[in-house]
Amino acid sequence: MNKIRFIAAIMAVLMTATVFAQAAEPAAAASCHVEELGNIAAEDAAGEDIEEVPHSADWNLLLVNPWNSLPQKYAIEKRKLANGLLVDARIYDDLNAMLIDCWAAGLHPVVCSAYRTNVTQQRLYNNKIARLRAAGYGWTSARKEAARWVAPPGTSEHQTGMALDIVSYQYQLLNKQQENTPEQKWLMEHCWDYGFVLRYPEDKTEITGIGYEPWHYRYVGRAAAKAMQESGLCLEEYLETLKAAERETALVEELETAQPVPVAPAPVTTMKK
Ligand SMILES: [Zn+2]
Repeated sequence: MNKIRFIAAIMAVLMTATVFAQAAEPAAAASCHVEELGNIAAEDAAGEDIEEVPHSADWNLLLVNPWNSLPQKYAIEKRKLANGLLVDARIYDDLNAMLIDCWAAGLHPVVCSAYRTNVTQQRLYNNKIARLRAAGYGWTSARKEAARWVAPPGTSEHQTGMALDIVSYQYQLLNKQQENTPEQKWLMEHCWDYGFVLRYPEDKTEITGIGYEPWHYRYVGRAAAKAMQESGLCLEEYLETLKAAERETALVEELETAQPVPVAPAPVTTMKK
């Protein structure tokens, strides 16, 4: 690591720790849509018991969305960031490299939300519904609208430990203006290089089921991120292309290995005497 990158790394650690301490104060409640950030970190740092780790080779392509819940008893080995938040240990190095390079570019990205337990997700979802109800929404419409912004428990990517909300230190509100910060511009341009994608783009909300979030990044691995960047596909679409390719391969193999069907001999007719 050269000198600039080293200094950036040190600064990144100090800065995220500072921001975290500030975010835990009630005064910062409006930032980062996660109002009780401090509580969440403590709650999630305690974690949930790891019962089993049913991960496949393509763990990084796990699909969690409104129609695909997290697998039962899904558990991960977690690793703590400088600000106390947790991530899947397997994404730590790539995330670190991305943040250090972003800092080295003179920018100030801050991870404000990472791994969440089911309990945390339930609370965030309930809080969102309560706020919408207070704003005049009916019960059903509040639930529906809440789900566009805070995933119901079991359907949040944050529960995988592979999703992160990253904001600019100078602008920490989670709204559309986040996309104009130099940090988001840099991350959107370079994230795929480190195996991350902007998970909920503006033009894919019908497919992802989630509103535009120019702060939510998801780890998918470097190869997939590169393919998604080049093709412009979101994760749902990318996984569909993989499935289609698999089906095609299976079909070709089936045709190649198929035995020729024997032609049935013509029936012998005998004259009755
Ligand atoms: Zn998020």
